[in-house]
Amino acid sequence: MEDRFISNMTFRVVLLGIREIIGENGLNTVLNYTKLAKYRDNLPPNDHEKNRSLASEVAAVDGGVADIFGDNGAAAILFQVGKMQAKWGLEENPDTVAAARNIFSGMSGFDTAKTALELAAGVVAAETDSKAWVQVDGQELLYHIDENTHSFGMKSKTPVCHVTSGFVTGVIAWATGEGGWTVQEEACMAMGAPHCTHRVRKAGQ
Ligand SMILES: [Zn+2]
Repeated sequence: MEDRFISNMTFRVVLLGIREIIGENGLNTVLNYTKLAKYRDNLPPNDHEKNRSLASEVAAVDGGVADIFGDNGAAAILFQVGKMQAKWGLEENPDTVAAARNIFSGMSGFDTAKTALELAAGVVAAETDSKAWVQVDGQELLYHIDENTHSFGMKSKTPVCHVTSGFVTGVIAWATGEGGWTVQEEACMAMGAPHCTHRVRKAGQ
């Protein structure tokens, strides 16, 4: 798969999220380790241009966090980064959020979750030049993403897109206002799957 540019904002929020959780020194350690020191004190700008941030750089940062903190530590850190990505994305788009709230009114929790994920899939696809879509599987939802950014060029026996799982979790929590939703990546391109699939379910259903 060829490397590709993703929006500067996408990579910026990943780096900001990591800094929020492991601090400035921690982020700098990750950037040095992944040979991305050019981003030290020089984060990508907060814009939608696709002209300097590469999918391979995002995956390298994820991999660097895993090398430094171990797989379990990285899963926890990157999941939180994804949740922040959802929160910040929503805060920066108050008009979209207001429109979405209108659409959700009167919908069941399940339909709200599905609609919110479809909106999020559209944004992710545009920001990262990927394909993202939502599928209903009985009482559960599947969030698929092709040419994912976090699994770019990665090989693993277990799923690696913890940022995406956190992002999906954050979107669902915001949209439904309900606890009890869980998100688990069950197929990952890093494991050889044709696309990454995150299963979304509500406890007790
Ligand atoms: Zn994946």
